[in-house]
Amino acid sequence: MRLAMIPIHVIGGGLAGSEAAWQAAELEADVVLHEMRPLRMTEAHQTSGLAELVCSNSLRSDDWENNAVGLLHEEMRRAGSLIMASADLSKVPAGGALAVDRDAFSQHIQSRILGHPRIALVREEVSVPPREWSNTIIATGPLTSAALASAIQKLTGEESLAFFDAIAPIVERDSIDMEIAWLQSRYDKQGPGGGTADYVNCPMASGEYRQFVAALLHGDKTEFHEWEKSTPYFEGCLPIEVMAVRGEDTLRFGPMKPVGLRNPKTGERPYAVVQLRQDNALGTLWNMVGFQTKLKHGEQVRIFRTIPGLANARFARLGGIHRNTFLNSPKLLAGDLRLKADPGWRFAGQITGVEGYVESAAIGLLAGRFAAAAARGESATPPPPETALGALLAHITAGADAKTFQPMNINYGLFPPLTGKERGRDKKKLMAQRALSALEAWLRTRTMASDSRANHGADHDPLAAVSGNFS
Ligand SMILES: Cc1cc2nc3c(=O)[nH]c(=O)nc-3n(C[C@H](O)[C@H](O)[C@H](O)COP(=O)(O)OP(=O)(O)OC[C@H]3O[C@@H](n4cnc5c(N)ncnc54)[C@H](O)[C@@H]3O)c2cc1C
Repeated sequence: MRLAMIPIHVIGGGLAGSEAAWQAAELEADVVLHEMRPLRMTEAHQTSGLAELVCSNSLRSDDWENNAVGLLHEEMRRAGSLIMASADLSKVPAGGALAVDRDAFSQHIQSRILGHPRIALVREEVSVPPREWSNTIIATGPLTSAALASAIQKLTGEESLAFFDAIAPIVERDSIDMEIAWLQSRYDKQGPGGGTADYVNCPMASGEYRQFVAALLHGDKTEFHEWEKSTPYFEGCLPIEVMAVRGEDTLRFGPMKPVGLRNPKTGERPYAVVQLRQDNALGTLWNMVGFQTKLKHGEQVRIFRTIPGLANARFARLGGIHRNTFLNSPKLLAGDLRLKADPGWRFAGQITGVEGYVESAAIGLLAGRFAAAAARGESATPPPPETALGALLAHITAGADAKTFQPMNINYGLFPPLTGKERGRDKKKLMAQRALSALEAWLRTRTMASDSRANHGADHDPLAAVSGNFS
């Protein structure tokens, strides 16, 4: 006889929630998946389909040997991802990228979820997860409904949930030219890391600064969606190009202020300066302080590479400003994605501060597995940090600086560095090989329900284990 298992409640049937529900169910947990569409729509979704792609139809590069997101694809495939299996089945030609027919993609996911005997799909908005849901995954995404967002805020505190991201670009540290840039805090004051040389400074002479400001003014920008325009983010967090419009010197009196700095190589005080601050515990990623922007990505690369010291910069993340609901995860979440303030709530997807379809689904994959382990009374084993899954998880739950936390894509700067002197493609290949062997070892340690399909009773009903929460 099978003992009744406390079901896992997954709130949100997007990329993360669908993957989480699938993973948990494949590990023999009973799952109730709650999706509010079509009863209540978000500002961006157009359909009632699970895992709807709200914008681009691309899951980005599929090259696992040379691209960090391609590696994440491969790891997810090996971990039995429903999102990746559905993407492979609904793929359309897109060169080295994995692009999908969005309707076929969503329909495939929905039919697999509906056909799984351990998953019940309930169409409803969850405003506050009831206390008796002791194993809940919240995967409600960047457009989490207002009622649930307010319940999360009540539990975690006002400052813990953001409603806009204001992303400054992040540069891989070893691509900064330190023959030109130097380390110093203003007036040699103690900086965020407690040292006196916590910032990388890229100096600009007067002509360089003026050209830079002109480039910002003329650069191609992305527009806000109509529904984003009403949110008053602006004065708190101005994009650099908006500051540039206010006057040629505005940036020089703002984030590019040179006071308290002297170039040790020339003995001169710079006319303006671009400062970068360490962004992860590994010290491999540095963010451009105060450089949130709505310049198009190609323009950012072109213009920011004119900054002295950044001519060969590799950008782990480019800037952006969007409507987005996300937690201060490094402060709030434990390593198994549980809320420290209430371990009955686990989070997944974009709301945890990852960015993008694939990253959101990847965190859903982990949350589903961790919740299934909890349902069996086991503790979760996170994937090793050498894997893309582990590197992403470690970044949002521990590696990132909670004070400056902003959403992050997967990138090589999140992985522990290799010990040798490899560069470029060799380095990426070695990182990929290291990741996949670490992943295989991790997958072997899981108690996989290899015969789960054999156990799927035709009359099995996940809702039967839930008392009275559904009408
Ligand atoms: C306008 C916009 C454009 C984007 N474009 C891209 C892009 O081109 N490429 C890219 O990689 N990423 C893009 N993103 C980011 C993308 O949304 C996320 O990466 C991804 O969809 C997040 O997955 P998720 O599962 O966390 O959230 P979602 O896929 O948004 O899923 C969350 C689900 O939760 C449901 N929900 C919300 N609140 C409740 C509630 N209280 N009760 C029940 N259900 C609820 C929603 O209806 C939704 O189905 C974009 C985001 C936005 C907002």
